Amino acid sequence: MIHRRITVLGSTGSVGCSTLDLMDQIESAGAGTFEVIALTGGANIARLVEQARRWKPQIAVTADPARLEALRDGLAGTGVAVAAGEAAIIEAATWPVDWIMAAIVGAAGLRSAWAAASTGGTLALANKESLVCCGPALIHRVKQSGGRLIPVDSEHSAIHQVFPHDAPEQVAKLVLTASGGPFRTLPREALGAITPEQAVAHPNWSMGAKISVDSATMANKGLETIEAAYLFDMPAERIEVVVHPESIIHSMVEYIDGSTLAQMGPPDMKTPIAFALGWPDRIAWQAPRLDLARLGQLTFEAPDEARFPALKLARQALEAGGVAPIVFNAANEVAALAFLDRRLGFLNIAAVVADTLSRVTGPGAVSSSNDACDAALEVDAQARRTAELILQGIAAAA
Ligand code: NAD
Ligand code: MG
Repeated sequence: MIHRRITVLGSTGSVGCSTLDLMDQIESAGAGTFEVIALTGGANIARLVEQARRWKPQIAVTADPARLEALRDGLAGTGVAVAAGEAAIIEAATWPVDWIMAAIVGAAGLRSAWAAASTGGTLALANKESLVCCGPALIHRVKQSGGRLIPVDSEHSAIHQVFPHDAPEQVAKLVLTASGGPFRTLPREALGAITPEQAVAHPNWSMGAKISVDSATMANKGLETIEAAYLFDMPAERIEVVVHPESIIHSMVEYIDGSTLAQMGPPDMKTPIAFALGWPDRIAWQAPRLDLARLGQLTFEAPDEARFPALKLARQALEAGGVAPIVFNAANEVAALAFLDRRLGFLNIAAVVADTLSRVTGPGAVSSSNDACDAALEVDAQARRTAELILQGIAAAA
């Protein structure tokens, strides 16, 4: 039976809701108890209120100051303190807890993940963008604080589970699996007409809008390649991506003797979240189970980088090092959100990323120093401005 004092950053999103849902199921099964210290959300006040009423955290924070009154009204009489704005989220992230879930989407989650990394607790990291922007420094910061970082992204959770942490020299390569997204079999000519509704309808995983677009462009697997390189200290050439449409094998480690270990599970984020929550133990909860006989077969194919160039761009950014991964991330975020806003066509997402990468360069700004987070966010802001200008250029030419 586990007991954890917990904070969930981004509790109202897909991963945040799965986390609280899982905690509910674990408590119902008598497998653990939780004390929630802080919950943070964005615009969805109704959901944040509902969660705070259920879990009675010490504080509930919305990112949006204009919604503070609504949050206060919703929690009147509950004894839950309320606050709003980025500074309040960052402060909540520094409150001492056993376990903190970083599940804010995008570079907006960097400062709070950075703050949480200094508390000495377990940082369950779903926010892959903060690793992409600040990976080595963030990992160093967690270590220095005496805490630990457990990846929540299903691929990295998989690798973490089969990786020889005490003998990394035994690893030949990492193999990340990718579902291939909803347009895996669509010809390139058809990709231009894709709508946001089609892009967010992922065949296997139910996720937030931005990561769903990233899955459709395969930028997600690009971000995950960079994430894996930092987490497992592996060069780009020893990280391979294979498309596996069933999303049952979540990733693999190939050893130097030719043996490959894979981690499998149903495509449900609660499984990697449960691993992070229980670590170093395993939690006996009513988990969804695999029925391999019913599945019948698992299939694999090589990714098509001609149709999904974002994957290659991410790999190039990783190889270039320095600020390039931050620029890749920022440009991709701007372009994916512009696509969701119908300001940009699907095929132009990767075009904006490529163009931004060619324009924003600089020396390796991100060191392990204390201000690596500030340095990364400066590059992020500069890349966003450039990506916006490129977007405007595309719109003017259309
Ligand atoms: P989501 O859009 O469903 O939720 C995002 C959360 O962040 C919400 O609580 C939202 O209120 C909050 N948020 C948004 N903008 C904010 C801001 N500016 N400041 C503070 N809070 C803000 O996203 P998601 O799908 O849950 O993904 C969250 C993170 O987890 C992403 O980094 C994603 O890449 C990663 N991830 C998600 C999945 C998945 O299955 N959804 C799987 C692996 C990794
Ligand atoms: Mg993933």
